[in-house]
Amino acid sequence: RAKKKGRNQYEKAKVEVNAGAFERLSIENYLRKALENDEFSLHFQPQLDIKSEKIIGFEALLRWYHPDLGNIPPSDFIPIAEDTGLILPIGDWVLRQACLQVKEWEKVGFHSLRVAVNLSAQQFLQRNMVEKIKEVIKETSIRPQNLELEITERVVIHDIDSALSVLKQLKDIGVHISIDDFGTGYSSLNYLKRLPIHTLKIDRSFIFDIDTNPSSKALTSAITSMAHDLNLNVIAEGVETYDQLSYVKKSACDAIQGFYFSKPLQANAVIEFLLNNKKKK
Ligand code: C2E
Ligand code: MG
Ligand code: MG
Ligand code: MG
Repeated sequence: RAKKKGRNQYEKAKVEVNAGAFERLSIENYLRKALENDEFSLHFQPQLDIKSEKIIGFEALLRWYHPDLGNIPPSDFIPIAEDTGLILPIGDWVLRQACLQVKEWEKVGFHSLRVAVNLSAQQFLQRNMVEKIKEVIKETSIRPQNLELEITERVVIHDIDSALSVLKQLKDIGVHISIDDFGTGYSSLNYLKRLPIHTLKIDRSFIFDIDTNPSSKALTSAITSMAHDLNLNVIAEGVETYDQLSYVKKSACDAIQGFYFSKPLQANAVIEFLLNNKKKK
């Protein structure tokens, strides 16, 4: 697997020091200073509507570059941010930055693009979460329908009544909600019909072998048709190849997100990407 540039220092340090201790002592301390030292950035990965071939929006993905450690992947630092509660201030930052990007896209004429922001359980279950969302929408003056919040099945199942109440309030505001990594949690489609959500994102683990594994294809088709019966949109995550795209298309998924169409892009590369994509049409 290709390593990202700048990860060398981090990888080396990880090997030199006992991995567990390193993560606790160093990452946690570094993470505490990362916001004030301006070490975070967001990358944006486009989502493509399969039928219209139009870009519907971008998922905001957090990146952390530490001057000594290099790039640290979210899979390594998000769990620590969650354990330490740092995910709350970090998550606030992500949300605000993502909304500010929506304004940048509007400035160059793209008014209906949505930004999707990942929310950890702790964030979603904060008491003032709905207020925070309202505030950031107001402060950045984006349209609520241009913001999408991604939560996982686990967050919903954890406390379905609280989740339902929060989701209903969010729906009233007009923001979109998607269930991320769908199929990896407690995939009961039964609870889905109770939830005021808009989109299911089929997890990458079903897509990566969809052209060789009949059960991945069957599951993707089944999830999609049930989702459509519930009036939900379906996005296939992690589409990397033309063959995967073909199967996902045949399974009637609505949209794709994955390296086949584009890797996550730096904020300043998004506008160029949008303009190029428009020219191709
Ligand atoms: P996710 O929300 O499921 O995001 C999709 C992940 O799949 C991203 O990894 C993305 O770069 C990767 N991906 C997209 N297309 C492909 C593909 O075609 N092939 C492969 N192999 N991978 C693909 P990333 O950016 O490393 O993020 C990993 C996870 O970290 C995210 O999974 C999400 O759970 C979490 N995360 C990222 N940013 C945030 C954030 O701002 N807040 C929170 N709470 N979690 C975040
Ligand atoms: Mg996500
Ligand atoms: Mg996902
Ligand atoms: Mg994931």
